[in-house]
Formats: sequence, structure tokens, C-alpha cells
Amino acid sequence: PEPLLTVRDLSVAYDTARGPVVAVDHVELAVRPGEFTAVVGESGCGKSTLMFAVAGLLNAPARITTGAVHFRGDNLVTLTERELNALRWRDFSVVLQSAMNALNPVTTLAAQYKDAMAAHGTYTGEEIRARSVEVLDLVGIDPVHLRSYPHQLSGGMRQRAMIAMALLLTPDLILMDEPTSALDVVAQRSLMVQIKELQQLLGFAVVFVTHDMSLVSHFSDQLLVMYAGQVVETGPTRAVFDHPEHPYSRGLLDAFPSIRGPRVPLQGIPGSPPDLSAPPPGCRFHPRCPLAHDACRVTEPALYAVGAARSRCLLHAEVTS
Ligand code: SF4
Ligand code: MG
Repeated sequence: PEPLLTVRDLSVAYDTARGPVVAVDHVELAVRPGEFTAVVGESGCGKSTLMFAVAGLLNAPARITTGAVHFRGDNLVTLTERELNALRWRDFSVVLQSAMNALNPVTTLAAQYKDAMAAHGTYTGEEIRARSVEVLDLVGIDPVHLRSYPHQLSGGMRQRAMIAMALLLTPDLILMDEPTSALDVVAQRSLMVQIKELQQLLGFAVVFVTHDMSLVSHFSDQLLVMYAGQVVETGPTRAVFDHPEHPYSRGLLDAFPSIRGPRVPLQGIPGSPPDLSAPPPGCRFHPRCPLAHDACRVTEPALYAVGAARSRCLLHAEVTS
């Protein structure tokens, strides 16, 4: 099927006193209807900025400098705020890391759901109530909580209440930025299972941003690994997990325990991501890469096809050319 969402050559820069800092560097992404895409990488790799750019939620000093975000017939990059607001919640929804920040603390769930629906159509009070009960039911929250304020719910319930709100108008795409990361491991796991069940039941596509690669291993179809603002590996999730090509993907996989597998000592990746105002020359990962060689310090790798995946590593350059 045709992609639902196509991100082409998307770049985002933050304007700073010392000049623009490129946080998302020529990213490409295609999401088909019903597909679950995970975007993974350490904090500061540009994955949240990418998601905010796709959702039209960037604020100054961040701005899109190149590229397009095609969603159905629209290029979201060129839409007005008003046109974007018409699409948000109805055609695509956004779920952020902490629903405490996204939900209004001084109004009940019922009032927030009502506002979200009323902004997109003419619904009777009864229709709004019925749909609100329905979506709470879907995420396993007792509808009695329509009268609750966000602070009266546990962290896990708040995230689920946020997901319920995202489902109100049956969007085809839900963008999620670390929706489970504020929760403990058990709650994380159960929320992941629930998100996956809802996705399979309702058929929406997901773009799921996380720093924890192990979290998405059993849930995502497609994986995008980001480092220093660039996609460094992309491919079917199974292929990347079974055989990570890029040394950074390998490092990330070693950095988190497998949810199912035996507990092994974690390797992690020594060092930290580069300062994006002055990324290393050549391969941006070279200062941390166990396989770095002389060429890596001068030659910028492209994304090379390797098997079912693509990898931004010079070790894969010959494979394609
Ligand atoms: Fe490592 Fe070189 Fe590949 Fe970069 S290009 S990931 S430094 S081997
Ligand atoms: Mg982030």
C-alpha cells in the first residue's frame, strides 16, 4: 500500500547565538497504513525533534530548514496553524512522554475529551459522552474517571487516558514520544502490550520514539536508528534486531536488557553523543566506534543498502557501489 506518511529530506535547525545547530539532518521516512515504526537513539540524537517536526509542534528557535512531510494529500510543513489543528486529533494524534504535561491539570477528563471532539465537529453531549466512555473502555480505565482530574490518576493511568484521548476521533496515525518512559518497568511493559493490542484492533499506524531499543523489539515493524541528527540504520525491526549492521545499533542493543532474554551485564556505548553545533568530521560516530578506521575520520558515510536494511557506515559502502 501507499505510505500514509512520507518524510522527505527533512532537516530541523535550532537558531542559536553561535549560528544554526542542525538537530535533524536530511531524514527520510515512510510509514504505511497500520504500520508500527520505532525511532530509537540516545537522548539528544534528534528523535523527539523529528517527531515534533512531523507533528507540526516545533517552536522557535527550532525551524524546519529542508524537506517535506506528506500526510495523505497534504504537505504538513506548508500548512497554516489552523489547517494543522484541523488535522490534529482527527487524522493524526500525538502522545507525549508525560501526560501530566499534555493533559490540562485543572479540568476533568470529560471536559478535555469534550473540547477535543467539539473542536472537530458538531457532536451532541450524549455523543461525546458515549465516545469518551468507549475510548476509556478501550484503554481499560473505568469510565467513572471521566470525572477525575489528571493528578487523581496514577502515572500509568494518565498515559492511558492520554492515549484514549488520542483515539477519540479515530485517527489513522498516532505519534508517540517516549509514552512509557516515566513509568516503572512493569507498567511500561503492560502499556506497550496495550498500545500494540489497540493498534492491531483499530488499525492505526504508529511512530514510536524511544531511547530503549529493547522496548520495541516485539512491537514494531520498522526501525529507524538515529545518531547525531541522522538516520544511521533503518530496516525491518526483526532484521535489525537479528543482525544489526551499524556499530551504533549494535551498541544500543547491548545497552539494554532484553525484555524476555536472560539478564546479561550491559555493555553500553562508551562516551556520549556529539555536540551538534560541531559534529565530528567524517562519520559522526567515529569517536565512539569500536570499528573506526582512518577513512572514518574524513569520509562522511551515506546510507548504504545492506540486506533488507540500510546502514550509514563505511564498512557497507562497497556493498552497494
Ligand atoms: Fe564506525 Fe567507521 Fe562505520 Fe562510522 S563509518 S560506524 S566510525 S566503522
Ligand atoms: Mg526526547
